[in-house]
Amino acid sequence: MSDQPTRATPDQGRLISHTIVAARHRLEQALVDAGRPADSAAVLAVSKTKPAALLREAFEAGQRLFGENYLQEAMEKQRSLADLEEIEWHYIGALQSNKTRDVAEHFSWVHTVDREKIARRLSEARPDTLTPLNICLQVNISREPSKSGVTPEALPALAEQVLALPNLKLRGLMSIPAISDDPSRQRLPHAALRELFEDLVGRYPEAPLDTLSMGMSGDMEAAIDEGATLVRLGTAIFGSRD
Ligand SMILES: *Cc1c(COP(=O)(O)O)cnc(C)c1O
Repeated sequence: MSDQPTRATPDQGRLISHTIVAARHRLEQALVDAGRPADSAAVLAVSKTKPAALLREAFEAGQRLFGENYLQEAMEKQRSLADLEEIEWHYIGALQSNKTRDVAEHFSWVHTVDREKIARRLSEARPDTLTPLNICLQVNISREPSKSGVTPEALPALAEQVLALPNLKLRGLMSIPAISDDPSRQRLPHAALRELFEDLVGRYPEAPLDTLSMGMSGDMEAAIDEGATLVRLGTAIFGSRD
């Protein structure tokens, strides 16, 4: 194989420009089916393990929001794509204290805040030159011992703490529910997250709470049915991961 392809393709052999359009149509259809306005949810393209060239193609096809899980990998891609001024980077990976500085400096959003210490460090490390860091609190909605996330019981206290931090802007909630292939079961954890979100909105009517980050390639429709505003699509856009 001497000839390099001029366009990189995801592993299912489809062009990224096509999968981006297909993901957008899938979202539009899900919103129609749920009786929701067409602009009431957006796609976050989850690009972990995928090369910068594919992200650039997605950007050229109109995608602006990208989610990354691994800090070093993400920062390398950010350097390669520094010319794409409108790109918006969301950190959706595990968060330890030693990562907070880089995350605070290099992302617009963090979806995985689940304890006060991490939130405080993100706020302290957020550069004054940038707008406040947008935050979703990750909730362990299916109560899986192996998963990160604040418990539903501890959520109100954490939300209160995050709202008090000067360089953070609490936007909403995020969850990664237990996997189910059954669409009717898929809705339950999304409905539970929506209830927690509505409770928060009721408690803090002045807060800029507008984001429910839930739903992935396998359960996006169920999440849209239950009010998701940001669906995180990896496989559906970039193909399967190794
Ligand atoms: C990898 C990942 C996704 C994307 O999952 P797909 O099933 O590939 O769509 C979404 N959210 C988080 C937090 C992830 O780590």
